[in-house]
Amino acid sequence: MILPKTPQLTSTQIAEITAIVSEFGCSIQPIVGTVRTIYAIVGDEREELMINRLEGLDYVDRIDRIQSPFKLMDRRSDLANHHVKVGGVTLGRELLVIAGQCTIDPKNPAYFLETAHAVKEAGAQALRGGVWKPRTNPYTFQGDNKSLDILMDASRRTGLPAVTEVMEPEHIQLALDAGVQVLQVGARNALNYSLLRQIGKAIAGRDTVVLLKRSIHMGPLNEFISAGEYIAAFGNPNVVLCPRGTTPTMDGYRNHPDESITPLLKEKTWAPVVVDPSHSVGKAIYVPACALAAVAYGADGLVIEAHVSPNHGIGDDPKQALTPAVLAGLITQAHAIHSLRQT
Ligand code: PEP
Ligand code: MN
Repeated sequence: MILPKTPQLTSTQIAEITAIVSEFGCSIQPIVGTVRTIYAIVGDEREELMINRLEGLDYVDRIDRIQSPFKLMDRRSDLANHHVKVGGVTLGRELLVIAGQCTIDPKNPAYFLETAHAVKEAGAQALRGGVWKPRTNPYTFQGDNKSLDILMDASRRTGLPAVTEVMEPEHIQLALDAGVQVLQVGARNALNYSLLRQIGKAIAGRDTVVLLKRSIHMGPLNEFISAGEYIAAFGNPNVVLCPRGTTPTMDGYRNHPDESITPLLKEKTWAPVVVDPSHSVGKAIYVPACALAAVAYGADGLVIEAHVSPNHGIGDDPKQALTPAVLAGLITQAHAIHSLRQT
């Protein structure tokens, strides 16, 4: 919809606009109001270049888009009935809980195996474990390829599908070859379109799932969903959106909790939403409330950092990880809220 700055366009302006939109297979239809006339774009208005050229005209106030910019991720797209599965869980039908350590310590693999069994016992249906880590400080532990074997060993022993973050093109193939079912794209890479495209290409035709975190700055929801479109565009629609808190931070929390965007995302996209309360609030004591709020807001799942002995963990685990006992209590409550919402 074209909204001009003046009550109506002159015939020269209409001719100029018509020439632009017809290059993109569209036409315009005036909608005459009592005080002003606006102009509907008839045809596919998703062409960015057409919109940019119209927005560049000095007599155009703004363009309001009626059509969604997403071809695949839109709630009304052909994929609206697509269900993403992680292990035995169909998202949207059953609450998915992914849990495990922020970071696998290659020097102490026994902790990870113990954590894996403990999160399964607590009710988690998938196992997270950081192999390669995006660290703010370049001098801290950056991850280790050896941890991939530790992750897959624990995944096999527990029967829980493995979830890990990939940051570089070579991680993608290593993780897929090892049998990782869910590739995480972290908040720092959520807008790395080159990585998103490479993941999309690598997982086309596979049952691999992508857990796409929301970018670290308070990005618009359309930007978040568009990042998912980059992956789905290559043919694998198993995209899960993961709000994980944004900046600027809320005093006392690690980030600004954003589980409340869940219903807004669901109005725009069919993609399941799995919230990460651990990075959102950043301290173990605040995690359960944030997790339960996420389920109350309609989240399809949670991804939670947990460790059998947080003090012995590395990365975020000493401050953020839940103990298995707290995780178990939280999972029970989360299921209760989820069932309340279903009824
Ligand atoms: C993580 O999951 O450990 C992590 C680094 O996540 P994020 O990208 O959300 O910071
Ligand atoms: Mn972490």
